[in-house]
Amino acid sequence: MTSSNATFSVDRYAVLGNPVAHSRSPFIHAHFAQQTGQAVDYGRVQCPLDGFAHAVRHFAEQGGRGCNVTVPFKFEAPALAAHCTSRARLAGAANVLRLDGGTSPAGWWADNTDGVGLVRDIVGGAQVPLAGLRVLLVGAGGAGAGVLGPLLEAGPAVVVLANRTLDKAQQLVQRHAALAREHGVTLTASGLLDPGHAFDVFINASASSLQGAASPPVPVQVLKPGALAMDLMYGPPVEPFMAWARAAGAVPRDGLGMLVEQAAEAFFFWRGVRPQTAPVLAALRAEMAAGR
Ligand code: NAP
Repeated sequence: MTSSNATFSVDRYAVLGNPVAHSRSPFIHAHFAQQTGQAVDYGRVQCPLDGFAHAVRHFAEQGGRGCNVTVPFKFEAPALAAHCTSRARLAGAANVLRLDGGTSPAGWWADNTDGVGLVRDIVGGAQVPLAGLRVLLVGAGGAGAGVLGPLLEAGPAVVVLANRTLDKAQQLVQRHAALAREHGVTLTASGLLDPGHAFDVFINASASSLQGAASPPVPVQVLKPGALAMDLMYGPPVEPFMAWARAAGAVPRDGLGMLVEQAAEAFFFWRGVRPQTAPVLAALRAEMAAGR
């Protein structure tokens, strides 16, 4: 966003990760900024795998006011900020940094908006109230860690967290045990071979679709007929998952709605203004359908 008016100032934000070329976040935040009249410029910063902290400091030095954090840096992000929201602390991972006070980390905040985004998309977008349902969450990486807390707060009856590396799922379950008890949820960890069957909601937060797998890494029996089967991936790589779910009689859903919802929560965290998500999701789907 540019202006010929010399007194007009624009605040800089960006998505930091590796890779970031595919990211739809600049599209989403440009639409939010336009919709809410906020003077925001949002770009992409590709970080070296061993250079995330340096890249954040450099971005702050260049006037950056905040950033989204994506693969593979979500677990590194909380340690950079002096302050963490409770949801980022519980997740041990952050997808948002707010660089209050410029270059000094003393004013920086880490947050995690992935879980709120997921729950809003399931309850509001897919119209599936999570309360009382049996939920299977696959994946204990940055995304799985971020969404588990808000999922528990939505009050399902059961959540099974399944992961290829069982130990990671067990650690996450341990960390969320008190929250699960508080919300009356039976929370257990599992491997991928036999996580249980006939779940009402299946969420694939593993990287299987990103890696081009033909199906998610769990048996199809995890799906109850008519279940919501959601993959956090979007775009062409999620098509095999969508076909797998459809063939099993489930209702498939990609991660695009969650992407827009988590972005809206980040925008609110940075700017104190909550954008409308439905028109931006529609614009993004149209953009992608046109092959752009
Ligand atoms: P990550 O931190 O790299 O974690 C990857 C997860 O996938 C781990 O649980 C890993 O298991 C598992 N995994 C990797 N390869 C696997 C395989 N071949 N079989 C079974 N499990 C495998 O990545 P992430 O940040 O959690 O992201 C996961 C996915 O969610 C990505 O596709 C990402 O694009 C998507 N995502 C979408 C949104 C959205 O807004 N829609 C937000 C966040 C993430 P181990 O622990 O055993 O390695």
